[in-house]
Amino acid sequence: MKYCKRCLNVDTRPNIIFNDDGLCYPCSIHEDLEEIDWDLRRDRLKEVVEFAKQNNSSGYDCIVGVSGGKDSTRQAFHIKDHFKLNPLLVSMNYPPDQISKRGVDNLSNLISNGFDCINISCSPITWKKAMKTAFFKYGNWAKSTELALFSSVPRVAIAYQIPLVFWGESPASAIGEMGTLGSDSIDGNKLKYSNTLAGGDISWLLEANIERKHILQYIYPSDNEMLNANLKIIFMDYFMSDFTSLANSNYAALNGLSIKKPNPNKEPDYFGTSMLDEDFININMYIRYLKFGFGRTSDIVNWEIRSGRMTRDEGISLVEKFDGNYDLQILRLFCEYIDISEKQFWVLLDTYVNKELFYLSPDLKYIPKFKVGQIN
Ligand SMILES: [Zn+2]
Repeated sequence: MKYCKRCLNVDTRPNIIFNDDGLCYPCSIHEDLEEIDWDLRRDRLKEVVEFAKQNNSSGYDCIVGVSGGKDSTRQAFHIKDHFKLNPLLVSMNYPPDQISKRGVDNLSNLISNGFDCINISCSPITWKKAMKTAFFKYGNWAKSTELALFSSVPRVAIAYQIPLVFWGESPASAIGEMGTLGSDSIDGNKLKYSNTLAGGDISWLLEANIERKHILQYIYPSDNEMLNANLKIIFMDYFMSDFTSLANSNYAALNGLSIKKPNPNKEPDYFGTSMLDEDFININMYIRYLKFGFGRTSDIVNWEIRSGRMTRDEGISLVEKFDGNYDLQILRLFCEYIDISEKQFWVLLDTYVNKELFYLSPDLKYIPKFKVGQIN
């Protein structure tokens, strides 16, 4: 496993690239704030806003996909207050027995601040079946839920004839997910080509005998449908000097977001501001850690290192302490939710563990063979 020389991104991350200087893509394009050509970015924003205003026959200028978490709360306010646009919010909700009380409160808080919002719910029966299929087939239960979440936004945009969608950060610029890279840093029309969404492929759900009529909300519009609708998906982090986890958390908390008391020994987000709307994503992060050697703490510290708030060594120490932590109680609830035994979970998990990166200790714990941050 190779680490980025600047942050702690790794070359095992799907779809990442490193340049000849040993930098991951996000570090290779990161500019210090004073070096950024803000006049150019303001001009580009003006173009986007004009496009929205010229095509708002529905009355809405744009759509924002929201969960009510820190990023979407900040996005919604920023679009309304700074871009001066009239957004329609779209929320794909977790089923009632998966969404947390905090998630419901945060979404309610966002809407209460004066937004129109369309809430979409899928049948929990199919939802769970799809999650279980994704877990067994890919070791990634969120593959199905992400498909529903990301598809819902362009689907509503096309149905309501609203040709502009804003997402927060470009996955290519933020984490190095190069499959999503469009023609430039703001172009999100290739978002569905991430490793997880795989172009919107639903064949694996159909193969699991889930009928198409039950997964209509999981179907991402085709490239042609998006083209015919003149749909533009734009990443707004390009236009903001501080679209970071920390800044968004502060902003959203000041606007009513309810956050968690950080408990990184069980949930590796030491800010306690992400993964607020349901708990099972913690298990997904643990599986991802064992598959690829990086967890949630890595994602957070990479931002902090790049922005200069943290040294690489401080990041290494946090990643060593927290990256592979998980909560056994949440794991048990997850097994119950998709109706498998804990033993089934561990047997399947073991098939996904990267044995070049981890070994199983005599007391049945996965121990990293690698040294965090080591550059050979
Ligand atoms: Zn990097």
